[in-house]
Amino acid sequence: MPDHDANTRKDNLRSGTPFWIKTPHSSIKTEPRLSRDRFDVIVVGAGISGALVAEGLTRAGKSVLILDRRPAVRGSTPASTAMIQHEIDVPLTILRKKIGSDHANRAWLRSVRAVADLVDLTADLKLGCQMLRKPALYLAGNALGPRALLKEVKARTDIGIKADYLTRHDLIDRYGMDRPAAILSPASASANPAQLTVGLLEAALARGAHLVSPVEITDMAEFPTGVALATRNGEVLLAEHAVFCTGYEYLPQMKSKAHHVSSTWALASEPLTGLPAWMKATIAWEASDPYLYFRTDEMGRIIAGGEDEDAAETNSDLRKLAAKAKTIAKKLQALTGVKIGKPAYAWSAAFGVTDDGLPMIDRVPGLERVFAVMGFGGNGITFSMIAAQIVTAEILAKPDPDADIFRYR
Ligand SMILES: Cc1cc2nc3c(=O)[nH]c(=O)nc-3n(C[C@H](O)[C@H](O)[C@H](O)COP(=O)(O)OP(=O)(O)OC[C@H]3O[C@@H](n4cnc5c(N)ncnc54)[C@H](O)[C@@H]3O)c2cc1C
Repeated sequence: MPDHDANTRKDNLRSGTPFWIKTPHSSIKTEPRLSRDRFDVIVVGAGISGALVAEGLTRAGKSVLILDRRPAVRGSTPASTAMIQHEIDVPLTILRKKIGSDHANRAWLRSVRAVADLVDLTADLKLGCQMLRKPALYLAGNALGPRALLKEVKARTDIGIKADYLTRHDLIDRYGMDRPAAILSPASASANPAQLTVGLLEAALARGAHLVSPVEITDMAEFPTGVALATRNGEVLLAEHAVFCTGYEYLPQMKSKAHHVSSTWALASEPLTGLPAWMKATIAWEASDPYLYFRTDEMGRIIAGGEDEDAAETNSDLRKLAAKAKTIAKKLQALTGVKIGKPAYAWSAAFGVTDDGLPMIDRVPGLERVFAVMGFGGNGITFSMIAAQIVTAEILAKPDPDADIFRYR
């Protein structure tokens, strides 16, 4: 008798299929053709950013067309490990040096608020997406040691962000992990990113939005009362505004020196029994380069990632995938003592990053009616929420007080 489970696992590992697209309710039907030709807003990209923007705009009463050149929710969103972090990749103490205290403080505070707003939004919309509030454990590593973490705790608590410093003794005692220090803070979450995005798109569709794919936008132009987007098939679509939520891909007009594309790797274990209780209720990541991050899902799978490379293409190398997954599993075992065996899924994808770790959420340079949302790093979902809030406010002509932090650079 063939071992079907073993064969399926081999296929998932060989093909680099992200775990989430194999979960129920992770796809959404799209229209193949445009049914009308003028909308208030065209949102390009049906990942988490496009879904949140479409949800925000339709809630505000706008007519919205969402387009994607792939099937919906098949960009980098379903590859995400979906640790919804209030902690920005760049620590507050370091961000202050890069962009000044005022902007750094506001970026961190906004990030905390965005996680809370996203959790509340999924509750209001009653989305079944495994959204769970979780504390984040940020472990000392080769990038930040105990003294730097202590300063980071002080910087965060000074501006009202809750953060507790844990010593080696605390870590061994409470988590069974031998690290010199960590920061424990309460304001993060985790979810199923594909179900989250599908749920948000469904909410927008229920309010009259249209979701069409495959449609690729290849060019755009602005005129006094609107925008025109050209498709690869030679059609021209008109709207009052356009929002490009195209992830790590972008049109030449959106190129920025501060933005580049990296590759990252992730895995999901088989459901495990006997996981430590803290692991089920906490997301964890290291202050290291390369770093390890991990969380669990409701079935007891460990979903872990890291081993980032500053290169756009290496994520498509399937031989590299096996080696990276092995490294992630080994590091996880060395840190937590949990042996995951052969992962059920391993995958890799590209993601956009910026020099200062903050996204760009702004009008495309030189244009008034076209917005771009890009450069999302490791806490992309939180930044997508901020993007939806800022872009919706700008389109409604009620500018957001934090918009200046996330300008095009
Ligand atoms: C392995 C991995 C792990 C990650 N882990 C986390 C994590 O734990 N927490 C977190 O917050 N973030 C994480 N991220 C980052 C997060 O996944 C991204 O920031 C987020 O998914 C970006 O969403 P998006 O909607 O902006 O882009 P995407 O999901 O990539 O969607 C963009 C869409 O635009 C479409 N598109 C592009 N160009 C065009 C065009 N010209 N015309 C039409 N359509 C177009 C694409 O087909 C795509 O569907 C991770 C990323 C990866 C790869």
